[in-house]
Amino acid sequence: MTRKIGLFTGSFDPVTLGHMDIIERASQLFDQLFVGVFYNRHKNGLVPIDQRVEWLEQLTERLGNVEVLVSTEELVVEVARRHQVTHLVRGLRGSQDLEYEASFDFYNRNLAPELDTVYLLAKPDYKYVSSSGVRELLAFKADFSAYVPALVQKELERKSDQ
Ligand code: ADP
Repeated sequence: MTRKIGLFTGSFDPVTLGHMDIIERASQLFDQLFVGVFYNRHKNGLVPIDQRVEWLEQLTERLGNVEVLVSTEELVVEVARRHQVTHLVRGLRGSQDLEYEASFDFYNRNLAPELDTVYLLAKPDYKYVSSSGVRELLAFKADFSAYVPALVQKELERKSDQ
């Protein structure tokens, strides 16, 4: 049987516990899972790309079948083809995510009919967790420890104190 290979993409600026939950669940569903850090060269994020990758690599090491890759200015389906991906993986927090994802599904299906997308519902605890919410809390020096892995929390706090 063909090996099932998943690709979960995002900006991960920064990676949250919501992202990690999807990654852990998807790593159980697929033989191999790629986590793709997709970014726009013209947009400045909070966390440098190398740091996003390093955190994801550290956080997924114990899972054993996860590989982190980086992409910019490229279609997800092109990256998927290059890595023999069989399924894209997306997280759904609510109806807004669903509408947004459905439009991508439409285009992706036309671009790459051989590729299907699997949607995993966010756990209730993480339904409202987003990278942008974390960035906002950090900017106001408010507590965001419940939303990101401990490693990420420590590093972000250390950097914001500098
Ligand atoms: P964010 O929306 O937090 O900036 P991204 O845009 O990088 O994150 O999203 C990447 C993927 O992760 C998308 O499929 C998104 O729906 C999913 N995702 C983001 N946050 C969560 C969460 N809290 N729970 C489940 N999935 C999530």
